[in-house]
Amino acid sequence: MATDRFQVGPIVVLGAGINGAAIARELTLQGAEVLLVDAEDVAGGTTSYSSRLIHGGLRYLEYAEISLVRESLTERDRLLRLAPELVRPLELVIPVGNRLSGLISGAQRFFFKSGAAPKDGRGSLVVRLGLTLYDRFASGAVPGHRRLSSAQFAESGLSTSKFFTAFSYFDGQLTFPEQFALSLVQDAQAAAKEQGGAFSLRTYQHVRREAETLFFSSIHPNHGAGEIAVTPAAVINAAGPWVDTALAGLNVPSNKLIGGTKGSHLITRAPDLCKTIGPRGVYAEASDGRPIFILPWNNACLIGTTDIRYDGDPADAVADQEEIDYLIDATNAIFPDVGLTRDDIQQHYCGVRPLPAAGEGATSSITRSHVVHRHSGSPFPLYSIIGGKLTTCRSLAEGVVKAVLPDLGHEVARNSRERPLPPPNFGETPADAPLLPDLDVPIAHASYAIEHLAAKTLADLVERRLMIVFDPKLSRSCLRVLAEQLATAGWLDQAQIDAEVDHYVHRLQERYGKRVS
Ligand SMILES: Cc1cc2nc3c(=O)[nH]c(=O)nc-3n(C[C@H](O)[C@H](O)[C@H](O)COP(=O)(O)OP(=O)(O)OC[C@H]3O[C@@H](n4cnc5c(N)ncnc54)[C@H](O)[C@@H]3O)c2cc1C
Repeated sequence: MATDRFQVGPIVVLGAGINGAAIARELTLQGAEVLLVDAEDVAGGTTSYSSRLIHGGLRYLEYAEISLVRESLTERDRLLRLAPELVRPLELVIPVGNRLSGLISGAQRFFFKSGAAPKDGRGSLVVRLGLTLYDRFASGAVPGHRRLSSAQFAESGLSTSKFFTAFSYFDGQLTFPEQFALSLVQDAQAAAKEQGGAFSLRTYQHVRREAETLFFSSIHPNHGAGEIAVTPAAVINAAGPWVDTALAGLNVPSNKLIGGTKGSHLITRAPDLCKTIGPRGVYAEASDGRPIFILPWNNACLIGTTDIRYDGDPADAVADQEEIDYLIDATNAIFPDVGLTRDDIQQHYCGVRPLPAAGEGATSSITRSHVVHRHSGSPFPLYSIIGGKLTTCRSLAEGVVKAVLPDLGHEVARNSRERPLPPPNFGETPADAPLLPDLDVPIAHASYAIEHLAAKTLADLVERRLMIVFDPKLSRSCLRVLAEQLATAGWLDQAQIDAEVDHYVHRLQERYGKRVS
């Protein structure tokens, strides 16, 4: 029998990536008591390392993932409407080199989910067919596809020895998924207030289980003491590529659910490339048929991506030299006059896709759809999220709530389909507020993020709150000011400031290939 109010105890969501944060928000809309817990930070995982597109996934049409493309396009158009300050339309250009290529291999992939990508790239017939379906499934929130005029193609800088024409279409770009996840967290707080539920966020947490009780303790080096005990009504494991590790931590037996693949991106401000692409992105194919995006992004160009099976700890995934060269070569093949070199790359990043465990075969053929897996053999209702894209985080969350609530004897009361999502709020700052050294960011934003937005480390501030990790002017003196803010708040000892800055500069070099002086 369904009850009106939530009286079943807290629902624990493990993982505060874009999916965990969206699930927490959807649950608080029901009036539930929600505890969102992360082993590191909000958006500390794959959410920070994607291509940053809110897209239907044109490529998935070839694998007959029609319902995924429909769902993604519906969500894309919804996010363009409900989160216009975070998600913006982006025009993309697809260059093509012939008319007929890809028809047979495309049909093989469509019907049998196998077959190599065409050697000569997809021809204009296949591309046009895909784009026509894409337009048909969308709601008209962005202009439909068109073929570039010969003059536009001639001016595009695209290789004329490789391509003879190009098509344009629109998708969405989410400049900072890191901040989108933060917005979801802030909105979960707001929704909890509105609906009389409760929401709390705990980051840098270790979790252990005894019978039906979970014990959370801090793993932040400066805040190690004390455990809280929670007897959850349900647990939702949204730990992305760490889903299996999280299950092991809960001591719940399970088959391996995730088979991650790593994908790397390069960031360059090479003037020739940035000027050549202008405000439009390019969606083309590398020599092995893999899709390559070259996108205008955050006053730079973002180039991605690779797709390589990966078994290690996702936290250690880094773009290797082979991937960097592959992406540079692919860019030069598409834009031969640009002459991109390793010296043009300011930084790179790498993330692990939380895809379902799959056997041998092309990584591109592994489904990008998500699954909500209900476990047996757990002392509380336990669900793991397998897969999921940035684009579908909201619909995934709605699906999770639909799966979980009936198990708890509740009906779904509302959803977020028409709920706007504003950008994260960093508090009121006067126009003449002091700025971080060398940057246009008020110091007050850092202190607000520490006090109200759960920032506890330099990485939290630089990579996931202020988004200055991508700023070429990021300096040691700026990091020092941020470290002082953390020390003032008690997250760092004064005596550790210099060592912490050194340690973090080393991390930027190792993880992002970024030099800071
Ligand atoms: C190269 C690449 C490009 C991509 N491009 C796009 C794109 O353009 N558009 C798109 O829609 N999607 C894209 N994706 C997919 C998308 O980025 C991911 O599917 C999505 O970010 C997954 O989010 P998540 O919240 O499930 O996982 P994550 O973001 O990884 O979050 C999981 C969280 O769980 C935490 N955690 C780990 N272990 C535990 C534990 N034991 N307990 C509690 N918390 C734990 C982690 O710290 C992390 O914060 C891309 C992915 C990659 C890798």
